[in-house]
Parts: sequence; C-alpha cells; structure tokens
Amino acid sequence: MSKNYIRLESKANLENIASIRVCVATFLSELDIHIDELMDIKTALSEAVTNAIDHAYDEESLENKIIVETEVEDDGEIKIKVKDFGKGIEDISLAMTPAYTTKPENEHAGMGFTIMESFMDEIIVDSTVNEGTTIFLTKKIRKRKSNV
Ligand code: ATP
Ligand code: MG
Repeated sequence: MSKNYIRLESKANLENIASIRVCVATFLSELDIHIDELMDIKTALSEAVTNAIDHAYDEESLENKIIVETEVEDDGEIKIKVKDFGKGIEDISLAMTPAYTTKPENEHAGMGFTIMESFMDEIIVDSTVNEGTTIFLTKKIRKRKSNV
C-alpha cells in the first residue's frame, strides 16, 4: 500500500454530503479495508462535514466552501482533514463535550464530536475565530477484507 491522497473542494451545502461520502468511500475501497471500518470512517466523516455545513457559515454565499482531504499512509493509516473557512470555534473543549450544542432548536443533539471520537482513533480540532476550523481524523486499518 503506497502513500496516496484525494482532495475535494465543494460548496458548503447539505446536498453535497452524499457526493463527498461516495467519493471518499470509493477512494478507500481501493484499499484492503473491511466494510465495518469503512462504515466507521464514513460516519465520522459525515459528522465533520455536517458540522462545517451547519455551523461554520451564518450567511449563504457561493464563497462558503469546505475542503476534504483523504490520505493513506504507507502503513495503512487513514487521515482525513475537513477544513472550513467560517466563524471558528471559541472554546474547543466545550464544543467537544458530549451533548453540548449551540443549535438545540435545529434538532442537534450535540453528539457529532463524540461520534467522531468513538469511531476514529484520533481527532484533533484546530480552530481560529473568524478564520475557520480544521478537523483531523485518523484511523489505522486493522481489519482486512481478505482476512475475513
Ligand atoms: P449534532 O452533531 O448532534 O447534530 P452539534 O453539531 O451541535 O449536534 P457537535 O457536532 O458535537 O454537535 O458540535 C458541537 C458544537 O461545536 C456545535 O453546536 C457548534 O457550536 C460547534 N461547531 C462544530 N463544528 C463547527 C464548525 N466547523 N464551525 C463552527 N462551529 C462548530
Ligand atoms: Mg454536529
């Protein structure tokens, strides 16, 4: 397995989530990765992308964009970066607290970060107010399709 990556840029629109998921999943399915782990990655990715779309931008604009970069290391580690250029997060540890949400009225449960943490090996949040947020998700492939 050699080092490889894809980089997707899209408008921060909810209707683009399906395309992003399919694109990343297709890229990863080239690897010898078990369906369970692929599903975990797709779930975490969806939460990170949904957050960028739902929370980063307050006003609708064609300029609102997200970048999703998926990288596979030589040792089988998968790294996904979800980047927005929106309002940023003031208090990252508070935002990551289970059940914390700033949008309870929109059926948000405040569980996105908790889901990302439980489905991935590592999550790092880098955010600057008024500049944007980048989520770094990492997972090491353990279960191989060919071994099951
Ligand atoms: P749920 O994910 O359950 O629908 P939620 O999105 O509110 O609810 P989390 O995903 O855990 O919960 O995010 C917690 C809070 O962190 C959000 O309510 C929001 O205030 C803030 N947040 C998360 N991602 C971003 C982002 N990309 N830009 C700005 N704020 C964010
Ligand atoms: Mg969320």
